[in-house]
Amino acid sequence: MSTDKRGKTETLVQGIAASQGIAYGQAFLYLQSDVEVPAYQVEPEKRMQEISRFDHAILVTRQQIQKIMSEVDKNLGPEEAQIFDAHLLVLEDQALISETIREFETSGRNIETCFNKVSQRYIKAFSEIDDEYLRERSGDIRDVAQRVLQNLLGHSSQNLSQLVEKRVVIANDISPSDAAGIDSSQALAIVTDSGSKTSHAVIVARSMKVPAVVAVRDLTKQVMPGDWVLVDGYEGLVILNPTQQTLFRYGQIQIQKKGFEQRLMEANRRPATTLDGVTITLRANIEKVDECALVKEYLADGVGLFRTEFLYLNAGHIPSEEDQFHAYKAVAESLAPSPVVIRTLDLGGDKPMAGHPHLFPKEDNPFLGYRAIRFCLDHPEIFKDQLRAILRASAHGDIRMMYPMISGRDELTRANVMLTECKEELKAKKIPFNAAVQVGAMIEIPSAAITSDVLAKDCDFFSIGTNDLIQYLLAVDRVNNRIAHLYEPTHPAVIRMLKLVVDEAHKNKIKVSVCGEMAGDSVYAPLLLGLGVDELSMTPPLIPAVKYLIRSMKLSDSQKLAEDALKLTSAKEIFTLCNEFSRMRVKLN
Ligand code: PEP
Ligand code: MG
Repeated sequence: MSTDKRGKTETLVQGIAASQGIAYGQAFLYLQSDVEVPAYQVEPEKRMQEISRFDHAILVTRQQIQKIMSEVDKNLGPEEAQIFDAHLLVLEDQALISETIREFETSGRNIETCFNKVSQRYIKAFSEIDDEYLRERSGDIRDVAQRVLQNLLGHSSQNLSQLVEKRVVIANDISPSDAAGIDSSQALAIVTDSGSKTSHAVIVARSMKVPAVVAVRDLTKQVMPGDWVLVDGYEGLVILNPTQQTLFRYGQIQIQKKGFEQRLMEANRRPATTLDGVTITLRANIEKVDECALVKEYLADGVGLFRTEFLYLNAGHIPSEEDQFHAYKAVAESLAPSPVVIRTLDLGGDKPMAGHPHLFPKEDNPFLGYRAIRFCLDHPEIFKDQLRAILRASAHGDIRMMYPMISGRDELTRANVMLTECKEELKAKKIPFNAAVQVGAMIEIPSAAITSDVLAKDCDFFSIGTNDLIQYLLAVDRVNNRIAHLYEPTHPAVIRMLKLVVDEAHKNKIKVSVCGEMAGDSVYAPLLLGLGVDELSMTPPLIPAVKYLIRSMKLSDSQKLAEDALKLTSAKEIFTLCNEFSRMRVKLN
């Protein structure tokens, strides 16, 4: 048995490699869940004490919120800090407090139970009110109630933006907004018990170049805060308490990888042209405005997917048309004359908007539920704010737009009708926009793929979202690690479906891009190009490896690869064929 220098046993735990890189540091344990409230009877002589405990928890909560407010004010500005005014108001709500005390006096149950009961009643009542402003207060009450309960129960409330020292974040799960709030200079790596390669938190980690390993079942139960951990984001390995030999070996690996990455970056300055002279368009996927810097650093041909929902998740509320306009305009201007494809709102699924139960009620099957274009068509006031913001930004650069989760022609038509209304409104007010803005449909639901001949007539381009297309085609939840082995991008059904979409697009003279994670994976990129995909869009740090491969292959060879793959009947065989294709090309150089 090997032990580290502190005498602790080295333990290897296998997960799924989700973001490349190697990191070594102390663990920061992040366990996020709704607070579990124990219920018990309080003895009569302890009742006064119970009420003081409640007073104290309210006081501490107020101090915590004021501290957050001053930090937000300092870092983001007074407007953002004002959001927390509403939280302070909840704490000052005498009705909530006196009802809790009344409940306590009549029931004799512990104060947490009483407060939880009363606050839940308030949350429900507010979420059912017909006034949008008041409905939104239910989210504030929920947040504050969780904080008060944490203080009553002595739990420390955690937040990943509180990482003040460089740490390896080990979590049961990380929501996309948690991930977006991480300070990438402090998070050495991210490891989660659950998740998959295509979960949104992982996509965010990849764009921040933070190594990540997911689906490391029950790791949070094996690690103590402060334990030393080595994370191998290439092989999906987590090594607890690594020995000196292990650290030395990884030191060597890291030097090798760094050298290879440097060579990739040098090669990245050259065009993505195949050996038979075809230049491929490689665009970037971004989630935040400040990622324009990465788009430039990795020399992407503009943005192929701007996941705008992160503007909403980071703000914690629905941003105004004006706020969105400024964000889209900033991206357009920063990257002009390169194109920027803005995807309209895709909340829901694994990107729920917490604290807005009236807009996003809890669902049993969120991936099959109220998500993306379904939500937008149901909320024209929210959707049209975004459409107008995008149109207005189109006067400031090459902005294009696309709708997520289109399932068929009717949805595309309804979205386009709303877009036309927005254009009319802007025209009437003489606000400039590009009247010929290109509008695309994401193909990520099998029904859209099967009717792509019809959809192609009503849009300017397709962008295939393989992350979702695979999950819906194979009926495999993309974030469920128990069935991760069934999530097979090379399943013959996937390959045939991609071919169908590409052929229908080309028959209708429109271009097809792939913006799912397959596009940035060197094993699959040649297959996609061989199938006829025109453009690939990926997290910027993945561009150099894909470009290197493109520069090492002939397009005609990848077409032969696709032809051969289409004749095979098993996902494993197709994967082996693709893997061999890439391995041989990269090795030859
Ligand atoms: C996809 O589904 O492939 C895609 C790009 O969209 P998202 O990952 O944001 O669902
Ligand atoms: Mg998708």
